Amino acid sequence: MNVWIAKGAILAASVVMIAIRAPYGHRSRGVKVIKSRKGKLETVLLTLMWIGFFVPLIWVASPLFSFAEYPLRAGPLVAGVVCLVVGLWFFHRSHVDLGTNWSITLEVREQHRLITHGVYRRIRHPMYTALLLYSVGQALVIPNWVAGPSYLVAFGILFACRVQAEERMMLEQFGEEYAVYAARTKRLVPGLW
Ligand code: SAH
Repeated sequence: MNVWIAKGAILAASVVMIAIRAPYGHRSRGVKVIKSRKGKLETVLLTLMWIGFFVPLIWVASPLFSFAEYPLRAGPLVAGVVCLVVGLWFFHRSHVDLGTNWSITLEVREQHRLITHGVYRRIRHPMYTALLLYSVGQALVIPNWVAGPSYLVAFGILFACRVQAEERMMLEQFGEEYAVYAARTKRLVPGLW
């Protein structure tokens, strides 16, 4: 199969992801941060995510990772595109529901509200579910052992290192309200985990 189909899909997905996030990033920047937990670890994790995001784009544009290429097959390509589309839809919905409460790192903003509706009704981290689906999609679509799993690896490390600190911060900020919310929801997969 022509690898340019996969390259086109990755390029399109990356553009859509940036287009979804950009307006929310812009709006959030206008709301004052009242509590920040952005330590050294967060800086390392965010850098890792940027690298994980850009490696597939380098694969699209250059032959740098051609030593790690393998043949593209229709099955993984189709499954991967489905994951990318569903992941991007979830990414969009979680941004809509979070609104200006969103931050790229661990922060509480002025008049921060605990969001428990929409995609936050049954899981506490729908945006991470979206990123997981998206990164699995990339791993399936990109027939390359380096560029394929790069975002998945970066996201896996971010999630493992961040999720407990984030939940601790939310519990400190919202107390009983968050405890009750956490007790009735799962982290990533509704009804499962
Ligand atoms: N973990 C969430 C949000 C990721 S963005 C998700 O995967 O959907 C990270 C920021 O979102 C955190 O700094 C925190 O301030 C904020 N946040 C996380 N969960 C929230 C919620 N339920 N309501 C409001 N803000 C939330």
